[in-house]
Parts: sequence; C-alpha cells; structure tokens
Amino acid sequence: MVRFDEFVGNEKLKDRLSKMIERKSVPQAMVFEGKQGLGKRTIVTHFVRALLCRDSNVRPCTACPTCAKTKNLAHPDVTIIDGSQAKALSIDAIRNIRSDSFVVPNEADYKVYLFFNADSMQEEAQNAILKILEEPAPYCVFIFTCENRSSLLPTVLSRAVSMELFPVDVFEATEAIKKILPDEQVNNIEKAAEIFCGNIGAAVDSLCSGEFTKLYETSLRVLKALTALDEFELLRESANFESEKELFSGCVSILSLAVRDALTLKFGGTRTVSGFDIDELAPLKALTSQQLLALKFELDETKASLLRNPNFTLLITRFCARMRKACGR
Ligand SMILES: [Zn+2]
Repeated sequence: MVRFDEFVGNEKLKDRLSKMIERKSVPQAMVFEGKQGLGKRTIVTHFVRALLCRDSNVRPCTACPTCAKTKNLAHPDVTIIDGSQAKALSIDAIRNIRSDSFVVPNEADYKVYLFFNADSMQEEAQNAILKILEEPAPYCVFIFTCENRSSLLPTVLSRAVSMELFPVDVFEATEAIKKILPDEQVNNIEKAAEIFCGNIGAAVDSLCSGEFTKLYETSLRVLKALTALDEFELLRESANFESEKELFSGCVSILSLAVRDALTLKFGGTRTVSGFDIDELAPLKALTSQQLLALKFELDETKASLLRNPNFTLLITRFCARMRKACGR
C-alpha cells in the first residue's frame, strides 16, 4: 500500500500509482500533467519515496534510512532536472544524464530522473532525451511534470504513461487549506477555494503572497467600471489582464459571486458570499434581474472558456463587449 498522507483528492490517480508499486509494474517513463498548484511535484515526491522505500508494507514508511534521504528527494539514485533552466538541459548535460543512467543504482532498485517543468524543454533537448527513452537501462524511471502535455513532442509522449491531476471540490479544498494555513481567516480561505476552483496550491499561493488582496481590489475596480458604464476604465483594467491570466480568471470568479450576491439581495436574502460589502454591491443590485442573469451567464461562459485554453486576447475583448451589453450598453 502506498501512503499519500494528506494529498487531497485525485483518488483514481493515487490508486493507479499505488497499484504500479504493489505490482512492481512501474513504467519507465511517466508524464504528470496538471495546472500549477495542483500538486504535481508533491505527488511525484510521494510516488518516488514509495518506489525507493525498503519497507514492504506501507510505503513510504518514513522511518527507513532511504525514506530519510528521499524526504527532500536528496537520494543518490534520484536526479532532479529543472526544465526551466536551459543549462540543465544543454546537449552536454543530457549526454551526461544518458551515461549516468547506464551506471547501476547506488543503493536503490531504481534510478529515478525527474524532469520538472518539462514544458520549458526545447525541441532539441527533448529529442536528445528521446534517445535515452528509446533504450533505457531496465532500472531507470524517467518522470516529467508539465502544465500541458501538448508542449512535449509526440515521440516523447508515445513512450510515456500519462497521469493527469485535477482540482478537488471546493469543500475539500477549503478543509485542506485550513490545515495548511491555520492562521488565515476562514472566510478568506472559503473565498480562495471557490475562486481558484479547488486548486489548493493556487489558492494557498494567492493567500500567502498578497495576490489575493490584489485580486479583490482589481475585481472591485472592474465592478465599479462596469456598473458605472465607464468604458474607458473597463478597457484600462482589461489591458492589464492581457499579461495576467490568473488575475483575469480570479476576477471572473469573484465577479460571478458578486452577481450571485446582488441577486440574493434583490430577492430579500442577506447571506452574501463574494466578500464585497453591501455598499460595494449596491450598484450591481440596482441592475434589473434580467441584466444580472445576463451578466451571470456571460461570466460563467467566460469561466468555462478559460478552462478550454482559448485565444486569451480574444476572450478578454469579447468579455468586455458582452459584459457591457449585459449591463445595458
Ligand atoms: Zn521507508
């Protein structure tokens, strides 16, 4: 049995990885794909620790000498290559990896090569790695992590088993973040879990870095520009979004919650979830129900489009036009 500790959700993936180790049928090349914040590095670390652990029962046992070394992946049979660093992927460096891979493991039964941020690997580097994947030494395991597997060459992908990570549901994310950030205000955690659609890492990063505050301030400015029908301000804000996809995505989620709140208030409800106060929501509440529903529809559509990795610039332009139209322009 493999222990994944507090790694939340992704049950099928965990089960699959667990079975690979139990049945000793670990693929020689694997690609872990998932958006930033979903825990690719964390789950890979659990997997590698379990793979190398000497205990036969629950792995990683966290107590054996191997587990002590793999805690931070500092084991003589584990090599980490950061794809975002060109030097680590020079042709010479890959040649060294290749010759190293044919030297039998120092201590473990496997030799593991971790290529983090594999999205950043140039085609030339990928082709050089492909040579290693074509005829790997039997004890070698090559693991790649990326946000989008389409950035890897089809020839590399065809030699690897793909693993995809997904966000968890909002409730699960909220509970997990509470444990990670015990001092954070619970209502901020709830909002972050909702806004980042269950991406625990992205929510935690945003709360810790102060980005979360920036997100709220930006959303409030967009909300004001929109309800004041201030086209100039709206365009100015959307120009900033061009280079900040995460900010845009977060704002769309917050605005969607704000519109939901405005509808709630309109129909006599009192419980709001967006985090804006009643005064801030007042201009939205002044819109007709029909306008609010149209806004909600556009925001949800934009949210769905973002997940489909669209032409981002076009999406922002369309977003502004449709939002103005929904508000009555
Ligand atoms: Zn162990």
